[in-house]
Amino acid sequence: MMDDPTPYKDLGLVNTREMFKKAMADGYAVPAYNFNNMEQLQAIVIGCVESKSPVILQVSGSARKYADPSLLPHMVKGAVAMAKKMSGSIPIALHLDHGDSFELAKDCIDSGFSSVMLDGSHHSFDENVRLTKTVVDYARERDVTVEGELGVLAGVEDEVSSAVSHYTKPEEVEEFVGKTGVDSLAISIGTSHGAYKFKLKPGEEVPSLRFDILEEIEKRLPGYPIVLHGASSVTPEHVALINRYGGKLESAVGIPAEQLRRAARSAVCKINIDSDGRLAMTAMIRQVFTEKPAEFDPRKYLGPARDELVKMVKHKNINVLGSAHQA
Ligand SMILES: [Zn+2]
Repeated sequence: MMDDPTPYKDLGLVNTREMFKKAMADGYAVPAYNFNNMEQLQAIVIGCVESKSPVILQVSGSARKYADPSLLPHMVKGAVAMAKKMSGSIPIALHLDHGDSFELAKDCIDSGFSSVMLDGSHHSFDENVRLTKTVVDYARERDVTVEGELGVLAGVEDEVSSAVSHYTKPEEVEEFVGKTGVDSLAISIGTSHGAYKFKLKPGEEVPSLRFDILEEIEKRLPGYPIVLHGASSVTPEHVALINRYGGKLESAVGIPAEQLRRAARSAVCKINIDSDGRLAMTAMIRQVFTEKPAEFDPRKYLGPARDELVKMVKHKNINVLGSAHQA
């Protein structure tokens, strides 16, 4: 039997090529929301359908394992059907976040991902090029888009952790994109992974993202889609709720929305949001557990958590990324 060359099309998904072309032309960024379970997936889809936004559903290798690699494509196929029934449909991509090997990227492509990231940023430049190119060669034949990365973000995420950040060197980007053929490039300009993005002293403000580096990259790669990882705002209202209801998140800080708005208007075509979704859900679950300690039906705490995540997704699409009404 012949292998299905583009399994993602059977799931009703699209790759990110057209999404980014439109985002570049119209000055907004497509949201990439990470998910691990049914409620998160429902909330992302409902929020994006209700705000008429294209969306990239994003899972890390460990999130894929958590959901189960066999179950995941069926969840996503169901999500596409749900979106269609609600609205007539929005463009939906399924993307591997921080793929660390050719084998993982291949496995994802073969099981229905329409886009994959190969993060070789912790390797030498030459090894990063080599590894990324192997994935691009495989993906291209299957019409799957590939994201590469240059520069290292600080912070902790599912698959990656680094104590220090290394800004992307603009003088490397043309050679990297030219040699690998990647469709988009994640860069490091001061965002970081997780809920503790900056260690601030009292009264100190969050430092600005390095827009000068971004502008230099835009000059070298005109019209080329750039990706921002670690771009949660670490919503203070949710951090406050979590702490009020027994949580312990001290000095959690993120990227101010205004800076993300500025990035979204530039060549940044994809903005990754993971921590903010986790915080929204955790805040609601803690509130229910504190206020209704007799509750033990998962729908009674995951339901409100889902509702809060829908609100967050719509807020981001409408007020921060500008992707609302672009589907
Ligand atoms: Zn990341």
